[in-house]
Amino acid sequence: MNLEPADSDETRCARGGGPPDFTTRSSAPAIWQTTAFDVQSLDQLDAIAAGREKGYLYTRDGNPNHDAFAADVAALEGAEAGVVCASGMGAFTACLLALVGQGDHIVASRVLYGRTVQLLNHLQAAFGVRVTFADAARPEEFARAVTGATRLAIVESISNPLMEVADLPVLAAAMGAVPLVVDNTFATPCLLKPLEHGARLVFHSASKYLNGHGDVMLGVAVGESATIRRVKGMASLFGLNSNPFECWLASRGLRTLPLRMRQVSQTALDVARALQRHPAVQRVYYPGLDDHSSREIAGRLLPRGAGGMLAFELAGGRPAVNALFQALGEIPFSPTLADARTTVSYPAGTSHKFMTASERQACGIGDGLVRLSVGLEATADLQQELSRGLG
Ligand SMILES: *Cc1c(COP(=O)(O)O)cnc(C)c1O
Repeated sequence: MNLEPADSDETRCARGGGPPDFTTRSSAPAIWQTTAFDVQSLDQLDAIAAGREKGYLYTRDGNPNHDAFAADVAALEGAEAGVVCASGMGAFTACLLALVGQGDHIVASRVLYGRTVQLLNHLQAAFGVRVTFADAARPEEFARAVTGATRLAIVESISNPLMEVADLPVLAAAMGAVPLVVDNTFATPCLLKPLEHGARLVFHSASKYLNGHGDVMLGVAVGESATIRRVKGMASLFGLNSNPFECWLASRGLRTLPLRMRQVSQTALDVARALQRHPAVQRVYYPGLDDHSSREIAGRLLPRGAGGMLAFELAGGRPAVNALFQALGEIPFSPTLADARTTVSYPAGTSHKFMTASERQACGIGDGLVRLSVGLEATADLQQELSRGLG
């Protein structure tokens, strides 16, 4: 009998979570809530430290719960290896520390998670790393920005908050030998696997969809083994590591990722279409809609659905947003996303408040923009609540 490993996301997720613990016969994975791991001999210490023997020494350097989650995400992304960090920001920081040094250069999409932009600006100001911001919709800008010192380019697979889909094969080609690093938080590997499209390193805020239940802070990066070894080394050195329980929770959340992504993609498309018809809504941003600027790219890269995130612009600006948030009793205003429940957020005041008003304006984030993270509720209930809230 030919026992090929499972190759559908559903089966991989349902059966993941690490090997069962045969000593206790526990069906569910254990939580290795420990600071350190006892060592039997000096020879064993050397063998584990050198990687000749499988094992762990100290949880900042590695823990079975870290590895179970990282390995599952790596398998879903089609990567050789993965590493977990304490948050999405921690994962990106570890990637930067592994790939970039003083005097080096980064090409970055102009539209990124606000804190990512803030981090890149801090690298420029404090550590002499140069950053060129370029328009991800114009790959020629990325190509033109590359110099001999360029170490990486960073884009989001689906950008926050206008849901622009990065044309990854074209951007990867534009970068040549320079690695394209993709923040795949919004798409997840169930909808898009960036490594299949030329990306070299992928990271996530696992606080969002990968965990999916709004109760974990976690990040993960996946890619080639040699690169991930360096990223892991930096995570350990700078103390960016996660803890066992967060990994265990996220690993549990990951079991239902394919089901959740299919459902939120369907509901978000229905909700986006209903919002388009509402008179108080000036514009809806969802890559599954025919009028979205990324529609053609989404058709190629997101055939399974465009995810659960959408944004819409209210004609009445900030006061209209405030009135909507007051009226939405059951849909909370929460500065996160990808919870099981639907939440609304205000990019100009949360994820992008670290940008100046003119920077926000330049990337199309207006004062009337609302971001909706579509959850697992019934579509009809969401449509009714939104319609009532919009008046
Ligand atoms: C939340 C988020 C991050 C940061 O992740 P944390 O887990 O909050 O540190 C990065 N990128 C995107 C797209 C996000 O939504």
